[in-house]
Amino acid sequence: MINKPKIAVSACLLGHRVRYDGREKKHSLLVDIFLNQFSDKVELVPFCPEVAIGLSVPRPKIQLVRDNNEQIQVLGVENHRLDVTEPLTSYAEIFLQQYPDIKGFIVKSKSPSCGFQSTPLFEMFTEKGRFSEIDTKISYKQIEFTSGIFVQSLLVFKPELPIIEEIQLSTEDACLKFIQTLEN
Ligand code: SF4
Repeated sequence: MINKPKIAVSACLLGHRVRYDGREKKHSLLVDIFLNQFSDKVELVPFCPEVAIGLSVPRPKIQLVRDNNEQIQVLGVENHRLDVTEPLTSYAEIFLQQYPDIKGFIVKSKSPSCGFQSTPLFEMFTEKGRFSEIDTKISYKQIEFTSGIFVQSLLVFKPELPIIEEIQLSTEDACLKFIQTLEN
């Protein structure tokens, strides 16, 4: 029996209701191509880092914030004391240990966990300046786009991993090209 290449896919794109708001983000073309038409060529492995680390569905919304030491943290949007940076970072290593033969990732754009170069990164400001713990009045300013923390951590361990966002898989051709990159 031929081993099919395994592709890890953000579970919300396959219709799993795992998002912070209790919904899914099913990508119909992706499901049709990868789950139906080419199920003999590839095997999909759904994953949701936020659920895997024990966050509930629904759950408080999180975002990427650069702190005073230029480190990226994953903090609650409403409650900035909710910090899930460490568990999301560690889960990438756990996932790669669980699935050492994963050939590539299809990830949800803009997600603070799963995004690939499309996730908004914020700086936190208070009346006393950037990221003061003493002050309570907080505002955020978006400074750039980066990758979600789970994906950043994956790339530390496997920098060569093919990773693509669902927004780049808008045609059948694009899906087939991605499958071909995994077969090479
Ligand atoms: S963490 Fe990833 S898989 Fe889970 S809901 Fe967010 S984007 Fe989807």
